[in-house]
Amino acid sequence: MFPGHNGSYPHDFEIAREHMVARDLRPRGINDPRVIRAMSKVPRHLFVDEALWDQAYGDFPLPIGYGQTISQPYIVALMAQELELSGRQRVLEIGTGSGYQAAILAELARSVFSVERVSALLSRARKVLDKLGYSNVHLKLDDGTWGWKDHAPFDVITVAAASPQIPQPLLDQLNDPGILLIPVGDEYSQSLVKVTKEGGRINQKDMGGVRFVKLVGDHGWKA
Ligand code: SAH
Repeated sequence: MFPGHNGSYPHDFEIAREHMVARDLRPRGINDPRVIRAMSKVPRHLFVDEALWDQAYGDFPLPIGYGQTISQPYIVALMAQELELSGRQRVLEIGTGSGYQAAILAELARSVFSVERVSALLSRARKVLDKLGYSNVHLKLDDGTWGWKDHAPFDVITVAAASPQIPQPLLDQLNDPGILLIPVGDEYSQSLVKVTKEGGRINQKDMGGVRFVKLVGDHGWKA
């Protein structure tokens, strides 16, 4: 095996991922075997700049440019677990960012539709996802607060940026039964809200405090 440009071996990253799972995920309640498998498999370092590869398996967000970040592994795993994916669902993700979470979701669902508003991030994500062979991920450049009507309804919707309220189009495009996860709050204090739709009824549960970048759009924060 040959080292990469920065002198590290692919095998090193595999070990770093195993450490991440054992140190940051399992002790904090990530125990869905499918989620553990996905987190152990997807090469998070490939979704960040090469200068950050040695930090890619730490449990913190990293900058991906344009004022945005790749979410910390624990939050990605927690959201994946709360979405209760069995491999059959059609998923809508708002905020593709680096594409990392889309890859995790692609491991756990039938298909992933992901919307991003920053063109440069979307094309970078597309490149990495293509290279890794995720043909079940579909990307679109748009204001994701409108959802993705052409492909609705979705069994699961996950939002990777915080909104002052739950965008109505997302509620409308959620299947019955369906699960929607979204951080709701202002810039400084947000709760991860889990919305479930079942038998025409909508329930909301507060999953605890989180900190995400802003969801900027017509049904989010005004640009
Ligand atoms: N899931 C991503 C996290 C990206 S951070 C990852 O794994 O890397 C959140 C992303 O949401 C940013 O890239 C930001 O540009 C994007 N975003 C913010 N508002 C948006 C909107 N209205 N529609 C689509 N994407 C949006």
